[in-house]
Amino acid sequence: MTSIFKSWKAGAVLLTDAGWGDSGKGKVVSALGPEIAAKIIGGHNAGHTIVNDLGTFGLGLTPSTISLPRCLSIIGQEVVINPVFLIEEIKNLKKRGISISPKNLMLDARSHLVMPWHETRDALSEEARGKAAIGSLHLGVGWTYSDRINRRGLRLMDLLAPDWKERIAKEMKNQTWVLEDMQKDVKRKTGKRSVVKAALSRKKIFEIAKKTRRFLTSFTDNTTEIVWKALAQNKKVLFEDSHGGMLDVSHGSWPFTTGVNTSFGGLHRSFGGKAVRAVVRVVVAIKAYQTRVGGGPMPTEDLGKFGSYVRERGGEVGTRSGRARRCGAFDVPLLKYGLKIVGAGKNDEIALTKLDVLSGLKKIPICIAYQFKGKTYREAPHADAEFLYQVRSQVVYLSGWKEDISSLRKFKDLPESAQKYVLFIEKLLGTKITFIGTGKHKDDMILR
Ligand code: GDP
Repeated sequence: MTSIFKSWKAGAVLLTDAGWGDSGKGKVVSALGPEIAAKIIGGHNAGHTIVNDLGTFGLGLTPSTISLPRCLSIIGQEVVINPVFLIEEIKNLKKRGISISPKNLMLDARSHLVMPWHETRDALSEEARGKAAIGSLHLGVGWTYSDRINRRGLRLMDLLAPDWKERIAKEMKNQTWVLEDMQKDVKRKTGKRSVVKAALSRKKIFEIAKKTRRFLTSFTDNTTEIVWKALAQNKKVLFEDSHGGMLDVSHGSWPFTTGVNTSFGGLHRSFGGKAVRAVVRVVVAIKAYQTRVGGGPMPTEDLGKFGSYVRERGGEVGTRSGRARRCGAFDVPLLKYGLKIVGAGKNDEIALTKLDVLSGLKKIPICIAYQFKGKTYREAPHADAEFLYQVRSQVVYLSGWKEDISSLRKFKDLPESAQKYVLFIEKLLGTKITFIGTGKHKDDMILR
């Protein structure tokens, strides 16, 4: 098998993540060099960071390909869009020297919109939780997906339609009732009156709509059709996942997941079965250690030295949330299961990112199995939270290396223990590691 990084001529590649997200996909995207790249799921909560010659860019909604010349970036219909956020993001990127126009960015008219009432619903649901509040960022992404499933809410096409004012007025009525019910729920659950300001300002919503119409109309089209045409023309189309397999609502560590399906499930939601069938290779970005942001089980979480070492060296702070990520040892049983969930097998490829973060350690822990009720699991049978909370991870230690590896471009030049670390993971996961991230900059990598 020749690596897709070296041999991609045509057809679709799905770039995904088998864990809890944040695996550094941005850089892998640049190395692949697609002609068209489409984001398949997520909202402005699922950010990317890219580092290139213009500097460091924290992206929320815009695909990480936006800085690549001659690449059309697409935001698929299953991505929920906060129009105010997107407009600001586009303006800021332009200010920093990235050219953005309908020639290199397309949105889908069917994408659902994250509106102020979704943020308010986040605040109200947190308030109703009382002391058990989970520290949500109140971005409203989950509620937008919930509206989509419940067949209400506004889509981009609604704000761009000639009768946009009527459409908004109708939806505001719906949302006002929802908000009133949620306020009652706060009182019922906490015994206190809600202090969240839930009244909707018609003026503010209309302003958002006007801005959206003015700014986003020319970027909006039918992206499914654009992608299908590109596939028919044998173009190099990259589908870019957000989140990760362990955050998949069906297969992940439910209930600590997102509200959508990731990988092929998310691809289908944005671009349908034709796009799923067009994928010739799955590339899975996996970090050289484990991280997770927010609550939920994490069997290899390390609250000691190793965890803080990689958190600090790897800059493990959420791009959008600013929250410190939980860190721990590479989790083989979880990722073996995760690879199956995202649909990657022995003919697919792993991009192992952030290997350089591990430099300077005497020994490196790897979890090779779980112990649960007297049984050993070399692969997680599922990722349900109840199970993952109870497993005990069985850890082995591999020798570390001292050298800085960021300037290295050949596998054979890596210190012997770094090579062994990569090969050990590759053998246990059963999928080839063809890309190795060796530093922050987009060019810091080894292609095998
Ligand atoms: P994404 O959502 O999957 O794109 O991941 P994040 O945005 O959370 O992570 C990307 C961050 O990791 C950025 O700051 C990158 O510069 C950094 N990064 C990516 N690959 C590497 C690598 O191989 N080594 C180091 N040190 N940093 C990397």
